[in-house]
Amino acid sequence: MPTSDRHNQHRRHAGFTIVELMVVVSIIALLIAIMFPTMDRAFEASRRVVCCSNLRQIDFGMLGYTEDYGRVFPPHRGVNMNTEPNWPQLVAKYAPGEQLARCPNLKGMQKDFGVEWEWKYDFNNIGYGYNGFFLGHWYHGHGDPDTGNWSEGTYINAKPWEKLSRVKQPAKCISFGDSSPKTSGGVNYGVSLTLWWPYINKYQEEVNGTRHKNAGVVSFVDGHAEVILDPDATINPKADNTDEFIEYWDPQVRLKP
Ligand SMILES: [Zn+2]
Repeated sequence: MPTSDRHNQHRRHAGFTIVELMVVVSIIALLIAIMFPTMDRAFEASRRVVCCSNLRQIDFGMLGYTEDYGRVFPPHRGVNMNTEPNWPQLVAKYAPGEQLARCPNLKGMQKDFGVEWEWKYDFNNIGYGYNGFFLGHWYHGHGDPDTGNWSEGTYINAKPWEKLSRVKQPAKCISFGDSSPKTSGGVNYGVSLTLWWPYINKYQEEVNGTRHKNAGVVSFVDGHAEVILDPDATINPKADNTDEFIEYWDPQVRLKP
């Protein structure tokens, strides 16, 4: 074989041609494109499991609190909101750890209902809300059933210090869930620790339905947690002051008179 032919043969086997490289690169790109949705789904599935686990432990923390305080649910915010602890501080004594209070999908800046916000372990912006209107005592008025002066303009007079024993369906009654900041007209009120039934539509104090793609994670008074697909269509009331889905919110499941 002439020297030049040997040289050419050597060059052909020394590496990839541009065309071969392009074929390899496009195959890799194709594989990534095929694999990505599967991997993304798998990662999201694991984040849902972590979120369920967080909320279950917060739930057990809440139940631990009720054991020490006469079977009464922890307050949503203290009688004086500025000097008394909020529910995350009270529950953290029984379920300690910053990570428990953080949905794994809350990384970096979030945008919900047009407002930007960021998770903080400051007991206000933790992105987990409490069914506080019904379960937790709060600092503003609870109304008076005798005068018809209903609390928060609703037809239900929430009990100031609700008791575990009064929950009719513990496996159905929401305790905590993925939440976003209370907001109205693009204003961020800087509190995401609430799922507030009367104002769910007014201030978006609902179970967040986009945190886990088209789902939100919710725990119930009996200590279990579930991934709720499309919560707006399944558990979040569609309009203020109606009894739609009230069985998931009111421990006594009262209907509009
Ligand atoms: Zn979550």
